Amino acid sequence: MRVPFLDLKAIYSELQEALDAAYRRVMASGRYILGEELLAFESEFAAYCGVKHCIGTGNGLDALHLILRAMDIGPGDEVIVPANTFIATWLAVTYSGATPVPVEPQEGTYNIDPARIEDAITARTRAIIAVHLYGQPADMDPLREIASRHGLKVVEDAAQAHGARYKGRRAGGLADAAGFSFYPGKNLGAFGDGGAVTTDDDSLASRVRTLRNYGSPVKYFHEVKGFNSRLDELQAAFLRVKLTKLDAWNDRRRLVAARYLEELAPVPGLLLPHVPPWAEPVWHLFIIRTPHRDLLQRRLAERGIETLIHYPVPPHRQGAYREMHRRSYPISERLHAEVLSLPMGPTMSEAEVAVVVSAIKDCLKGS
Ligand SMILES: *Cc1c(COP(=O)(O)O)cnc(C)c1O
Repeated sequence: MRVPFLDLKAIYSELQEALDAAYRRVMASGRYILGEELLAFESEFAAYCGVKHCIGTGNGLDALHLILRAMDIGPGDEVIVPANTFIATWLAVTYSGATPVPVEPQEGTYNIDPARIEDAITARTRAIIAVHLYGQPADMDPLREIASRHGLKVVEDAAQAHGARYKGRRAGGLADAAGFSFYPGKNLGAFGDGGAVTTDDDSLASRVRTLRNYGSPVKYFHEVKGFNSRLDELQAAFLRVKLTKLDAWNDRRRLVAARYLEELAPVPGLLLPHVPPWAEPVWHLFIIRTPHRDLLQRRLAERGIETLIHYPVPPHRQGAYREMHRRSYPISERLHAEVLSLPMGPTMSEAEVAVVVSAIKDCLKGS
């Protein structure tokens, strides 16, 4: 049996009728940018996250970048970011002109360690970006307490956490603003690029709304030098269909994760994700850790089981951040050498989970 990492075609098949109807509705409407579908999606997704505002953007990186711009963060400023994240979190800071300042993660949760944040704060620090990595919320209360003591903004990078809860509250409503991505492989994914900002802050929302559309609050009047980053009508219509399934699909991911956690627990030398009692993750990715990562990945591939590595190289070791190469973030470096992402998705069958589990047990025997 072949087990794909994530079966996007199966997800389409489940909703084909509704998605095709959405496609026909938008095509026939004659309106493809900044229309009714976007307005409807924005209000539905804001309600889902439990916040007042949602502003659709062209992608998740832009969502984060526009938040920082709207906060007037720029050259000379510093923004604290996780050392262990997808590079987009850092690039958003770099785009704004500010400098990303990495902070190491907690080993068990992979998320930024609040206990290490204060050492990284300087007179130039303006904000902290917390990433809910792999779909598990970061520990927001201690982080926000530090931020408020130092007068810093807090931004969520919720690109992997649609629907996740922290102490009962949804990602997207846990800070001053949040950036989401609707890249096709995310828990709520479009059929192309897409993103959104969520916030309760009226003035921040209106600044982001202006910035995403040429700095133009009224057509052909440009208050600021804005950008072009809009969630288009087709993607908004598709996302409205998929949003109705998000909770059910996250529940199915939870079932897969529960089986992995239970059945892989006895395997020696394998580190499984730790879920703190206050976290309700949505398992965007299911990560295991082993020093034999590369060997395990090869052996699983030989059996037709597709795994990925999120991520093979930490941002400070990428060519894009050459200026950081001499810095050392040992926890992140170790994680990047040992993590492996198992197949995970809402259409994964019990039989597929069983195949993955028994293959892992087999492959690790004697290694
Ligand atoms: C996917 C992702 C982004 C960027 O989203 P895009 O829509 O691809 O621009 C940002 N941060 C994290 C953690 C992500 O996983």
